[in-house]
Amino acid sequence: MKSLLIATGIVLLQLAGVEPVRAADDKISPRIFETSALQLTVRQQMAEIDQIRLEDQLRFKTELARIRQLPVTLAADQEYLALLTAYEQALQGQYDKVLPTLTPLLDVSANSEFLIRAQVMAVNVLLLSNNYTLAFTYLEQLINSIPSIRDPELLAQVIVIVMFTYNQLERYDLTLLYKRYIDFSAISAKLACRIRVIILDAKYQQANVVVGSDEANQLIDECIAVREVIPANLARKELMRDQLASNDNKSALAIYLQHKAEIEQTRYPILISQFAALAAQAHLSLGEIQQAELLAEQALSAAQSSPNNPALVEAYNTLYQIAKMQQNYQQALNYFELMRQTEGELNANKASQQAAYHMVKSEIELKNQRISLLDRDNELLFLQQSIYQQEAKNSRLWLILATLIGFTALVLAYRGLTGRRRFKLMAEYDQLTGISNRYHFNNQARLAIKSCRARQVPVAVILFDLDHFKTINDQFGHATGDWALQQIVQACKQFMRSNDIFGRIGGEEFVIMMPGCELDKATLLAEICRDAIVGIDCNSSEHQFSLSASFGVSGSNSSGYDVKQLLADADKAMYQAKAKGRNQVVEFQQTVS
Ligand code: GH3
Ligand code: MG
Ligand code: MG
Repeated sequence: MKSLLIATGIVLLQLAGVEPVRAADDKISPRIFETSALQLTVRQQMAEIDQIRLEDQLRFKTELARIRQLPVTLAADQEYLALLTAYEQALQGQYDKVLPTLTPLLDVSANSEFLIRAQVMAVNVLLLSNNYTLAFTYLEQLINSIPSIRDPELLAQVIVIVMFTYNQLERYDLTLLYKRYIDFSAISAKLACRIRVIILDAKYQQANVVVGSDEANQLIDECIAVREVIPANLARKELMRDQLASNDNKSALAIYLQHKAEIEQTRYPILISQFAALAAQAHLSLGEIQQAELLAEQALSAAQSSPNNPALVEAYNTLYQIAKMQQNYQQALNYFELMRQTEGELNANKASQQAAYHMVKSEIELKNQRISLLDRDNELLFLQQSIYQQEAKNSRLWLILATLIGFTALVLAYRGLTGRRRFKLMAEYDQLTGISNRYHFNNQARLAIKSCRARQVPVAVILFDLDHFKTINDQFGHATGDWALQQIVQACKQFMRSNDIFGRIGGEEFVIMMPGCELDKATLLAEICRDAIVGIDCNSSEHQFSLSASFGVSGSNSSGYDVKQLLADADKAMYQAKAKGRNQVVEFQQTVS
């Protein structure tokens, strides 16, 4: 069964489109708006048109154009204007413009309502443009913000997009799970209608849930009462589909004939085409071939502008059945092929949606797992590399990005640091990789150990040495070796906490000191770094090779609070790792027993 709510332009935006949240001071009588707009602040004027956005698009557009001419100076007002502009672009179907308009809000919005509304819209638009990976990334951010959203209306708007997406992914069970977050008594009747329609959709698709026609009819009435015509008809369509499934073709057709005019008035191709396709099926089952053919063709022409529309499959199927009945086999074959092709495209689209969802989900879960494992003591872990970087890693983009960042850092370093400070930095940090040099590492480590000893908390050390690094230099040159050293530092750095000390203590030998950390946790980090080094994509260096390193780990429990001893023991363990075949982690503990 195909989901009722297929991602097509306006329907999606209408359903998941964010109604403005009314703050107490935003409650302005529409009459004021009509008579004396100039007496209102820019903010109030924007709040006004925000309210009429979905109901009166033309007015929204003209008023927004007028407001754009006014001086908008406050940062929050500029954000609001950007948000409204993005809505306008979305309503006009200019989806490619929406995300750039929203970017400043997504990056820095201090007003969390704007941020959340921007994220909701970003998910909408990204789903529409089939950019599922990014859509699900924003969705995940929205889901994480759910517990902190106080305003029930805003919360419900977030839940709408979450539920909508779960329906798209055919995770109807999750849609129904999110129902409990909604306080229907605290939200507007319009929003309640939209949410209930999405829930109804999920229920219809869930094999084990039976939906009575009374339930659907009641919801349709509720939606019509608050002029939510599109959601009402989406529910009607599902009711019709249900009746077709139970061979009640006459009732199904009656729904269509009774509401045909209203459906066409919505001017939404997805709705019109799907109703026509269902009505064609009903006619066919009733043996009314001519009407069936006519409606199937209407469905096809209405669906032209909306790819990924299941109405196409249904209409081709009806035409195929008719051609077969009329023994027009060549035409039957044509329709059959078109049906299969469209079905294939729909399935491929669904599959790529689901793959992207699982990718985002598992990336995030993996990171969360790593965080919670490493973060047992509630210390902040600095995962600098976001999932975008993870993705970009496989492409040249990463190299370009690294070069750009490196260049910017250099310029900043040159401009911002003068005299002594620059000299100090040069004396303390390794120029190639930017981490502490041996001298600075020792100083930092001594201070950290002193503090750990005083607080009676453990401290651990990870030491690693690259495997067969000389070969890389020999085969591909020193520059490639340098590149590899930088990549390795970047790869490991992303998993470190703010108070870990990372140093380059030899040519291709590194050490991480972890204050407050037990041996097992350090071993886990070592394992993660080992894995990250092996995962470095060396193609961007334009040579074919792989990287690995051998790790030794020591801890204060067995080596005491002494830098030299901790390093010596980690070194012993590291040599064990080399001896055992390299590319592995050895704990010092194991070696002494
Ligand atoms: P093993 O697995 O036993 O550690 O083998 P290896 O080849 O890594 O060991 P070895 O100690 O013989 O070689 C280390 C090499 O690291 C030698 C040197 O060319 C290289 N190296 C040291 N510092 C740098 C540097 O700053 N840049 C580059 N490109 N190479 C360096
Ligand atoms: Mg070495
Ligand atoms: Mg080495």
